[in-house]
Amino acid sequence: MSDNIKNEQLVIIGGGPAGLTSGIYGTRAGLNPVVLMGPEPGGQITTSPEIENFPGFPEGINGFDLMQRVIKQLENLEGRMVYELVTKIDLGKRPYIIETDGGIYKADTVIISTGASPRKLGLESEERLLGRGVSYCATCDGAFFKGKEVAVIGGGDTALEEANYLTKFCSKVYIIHRRNEFRGTKILAERVIRNSRVEVIWDSELEDVLGGEKVDGLMIRNNKTKEKIELRGVSGVFIAIGYQPNTKLFRDYLKLDEQGYIVTDSKYMTSKEGVFAAGDVQDPFYRQVITSAGAGAAAAIEASKYIDNLSQ
Ligand code: NAP
Repeated sequence: MSDNIKNEQLVIIGGGPAGLTSGIYGTRAGLNPVVLMGPEPGGQITTSPEIENFPGFPEGINGFDLMQRVIKQLENLEGRMVYELVTKIDLGKRPYIIETDGGIYKADTVIISTGASPRKLGLESEERLLGRGVSYCATCDGAFFKGKEVAVIGGGDTALEEANYLTKFCSKVYIIHRRNEFRGTKILAERVIRNSRVEVIWDSELEDVLGGEKVDGLMIRNNKTKEKIELRGVSGVFIAIGYQPNTKLFRDYLKLDEQGYIVTDSKYMTSKEGVFAAGDVQDPFYRQVITSAGAGAAAAIEASKYIDNLSQ
């Protein structure tokens, strides 16, 4: 087992835009950090069909391709990426201990960039029919619904983007939103409203997903009139109602806000000295690839300064 204990200056937990950018900066700063790639290498953004707002890609780029480029960039710098899952953590005192399914890391500094996961509605039928018509990712599952009617739940950028994407395959895409205006950006909202394959059902919530073995309809309820309607013939439902930060491992050690995000100061330091957090795990506001990458860069610069101070 002792062979499997590695002493590190910097361990980065999570391999999305924030963690990989920390990896690039940390590697270039000579810290030889290890990036623990976690359950979704490249992060949530790998499921995004089209990113039109990342600078430097005037034609747009899909999330998977963008993150493959970032991984390649870190490889070219001889950065370390390991495909391990963190199982346990001890941030009680330095060196901080991170156990994975592949070994144990003792670290002077840690950057947490574990991102966020899709939020669930909490319906029994949502759980039961997951993978049988219920999905949280249009890019992953959209093509299974070629020529079919589907629905997207939510009114933010994710819902709008997914609805637009699904019109490439599906005969009709309902957007079911609980209010009568979208939260998402105007350009995306206008695009879906103009799309003849999209029908928006305003002021409504999903009450139940119908179907035995697979989804064959939805029960929705109008929030204002309380009227319930059945959307028969819908065979897929994409739930896009936001995200929750992946902070379960850290809640005993770090200050979290009421929504579960890691609280950081202006230099990305958490409530624990030498432990930094960057990206969706600490950012309830922006949640963009560019802001996550920026936070990852800043956190690595701060980690480097912190290590310099330790050795003085
Ligand atoms: P979001 O902005 O938090 O929107 C979530 C949507 O789901 C809201 O419309 C919300 O309704 C609705 N909702 C939440 N809980 C619900 C519930 N229990 N039942 C029914 N509806 C519910 O989440 P997001 O769309 O996933 O976006 C997350 C972040 O990523 C945002 O900052 C967004 O700008 C960013 N993003 C950007 C892009 C892009 O720039 N291309 C693409 C995707 C995401 P209300 O509006 O009533 O609150």
